[in-house]
Amino acid sequence: MKILVINAGSSSLKYQLINVENKDVLAKGNCERIGIDGRFKHKTGDGRGFEREVALPDHRAAFRLVIEALTTGEFAVIGSTSEIDAVGHRIVHGGDKFTHSVLVTDEVLKEFQGVINFAPLHNPPALSGIEACRETLGKAVPNVMVFDTAFHQTMPPQAYIFGVPYKYYEQYRVRRYGAHGTSHRYVSLRCAELLGKKPEETKIVTCHLGNGSSISAVDAGKCVDTSMGFTPLGGIIMGTRSGDLDPSVVTFIMEKEGISPRDMENLLNKESGFIGISGISSDDRDLEEATAKGIERSKIAQDAQRYQIKKLVGAYSAAMGGLDALVFTGGIGENSSLLRAAVCENMEYLGITFDPAKNEETIRGKEGDLSLPGGKVRVYVIPTNEEYMIALDTKTLVG
Ligand code: ADP
Repeated sequence: MKILVINAGSSSLKYQLINVENKDVLAKGNCERIGIDGRFKHKTGDGRGFEREVALPDHRAAFRLVIEALTTGEFAVIGSTSEIDAVGHRIVHGGDKFTHSVLVTDEVLKEFQGVINFAPLHNPPALSGIEACRETLGKAVPNVMVFDTAFHQTMPPQAYIFGVPYKYYEQYRVRRYGAHGTSHRYVSLRCAELLGKKPEETKIVTCHLGNGSSISAVDAGKCVDTSMGFTPLGGIIMGTRSGDLDPSVVTFIMEKEGISPRDMENLLNKESGFIGISGISSDDRDLEEATAKGIERSKIAQDAQRYQIKKLVGAYSAAMGGLDALVFTGGIGENSSLLRAAVCENMEYLGITFDPAKNEETIRGKEGDLSLPGGKVRVYVIPTNEEYMIALDTKTLVG
C-alpha cells in the first residue's frame, strides 16, 4: 500500500511517498517559500532528484507540482496517481476535539474549523493541503488527518489544567495540549518492542529534542503528562523558545520595556532559549563548539536545558510510580552524546545505568541501547519516524 504523507507548513509543503508494508520511502521532497518566490526539491528513494526555483503561489500549486514529480519525468516513482492508495496529513493542533487520527469527510473538516485557530500558522495551510489533495486526486482517494496533539489527549485533568481561573478553560479551552505527539507515540511503541513487552506493561519517558523539544511520560502506552503546554512554547529551554517561566517574568519585562503582547510572544518564541541565553546560536552543534572553547553563556544555556530534562525524568518517574525506559530522539537526542551523558549522570538511584562507549557510537540515525547489561532501566536512542507513523495510521483507517 502506497501512502503519500503531507506535512504542510505556513510556507512549505513536505511530502514522502511511503510503501507502508516495508517502510520504504519511494520519494520525498519539499516545496519551500510558497507564496514568496518558490523552491522545489524532489528526491527518489535511491537518492536521485532535482532542486529548482519555481513559482509556487499557493499550496494547491505546490501539491500539483508534487504529483507531477511523482508521476512524470526522469525522477517519477509511480506510473500514475492511481497508485496512491491514500494520503496522510500531519496536523499540528486538534485542540481537545480530536483524540485520534480521523478519515477526512466534509463533516470532519467542519469540525476542524472549530480548532483551526489553536495553530494559526500551521492549521490553515494543513487545511489547504487537504483541499488541494481532494481537488487534484479526487474524493475517491481517502485522506487522513493525524494530529500532533492527539496522543496527549489521554492526560488526566491534574496534568493538563493550569492554575488560572477555570472559566478560561471553559471559555477558551486554555489547558495543556502538548506537541510532537506522533513522535512520542512512535518512539514509545518502538521502545516497548525493544523491551519485549506490550505497551500496556511499560512506563517510559520519551525525550524529543530538536529545535523544538518536549518530554512525555507514557504509562501503559498512554501519555499521562508532557512538557509542552497550551502552545509549543512551554516546557524546557529550546533553540529559540523560552520554555516554562515564572509568569511574572513576562509581565515584568513587558512593563519595563513597554512591549506589546504580540512582541513579547515573538521575544519568547524567537529570541529566547539557546539563542537568548548564549547570544551565539539556536543550534546545539554551535553551542557544543562554543562551550568547548570555554564560552560561559553557551555552557549555561546547555547546562540549563540538560538540567531541566533531568528534573523531568525524575518528576515523570514519580508521576508514573516507576520507570522502565528512557528514550532519546530528535536531532539533539539522536546525536548529542554529551547531552545524553549529562542527563543520565548520577541517575543510578532511579535504576539508570549508562554505557559511555555505546553512547559515543549511537549517533546519526542509529538505534541503540545505552544501558549496561542488567540495568533496571533501559536507555534507548530511537530515531523518530513521524512520517511512517502517519502512513501507518492512514493505512489502519483506510483499511
Ligand atoms: P526540528 O525540531 O526542527 O525538527 P531537529 O530534530 O532536526 O529539529 O533537531 C535540530 C537540532 O539537532 C539542532 O539544535 C541541531 O544542532 C541538533 N543536532 C543535530 N546534529 C547534532 C549533533 N551531531 N550534535 C548535537 N546536536 C545536533
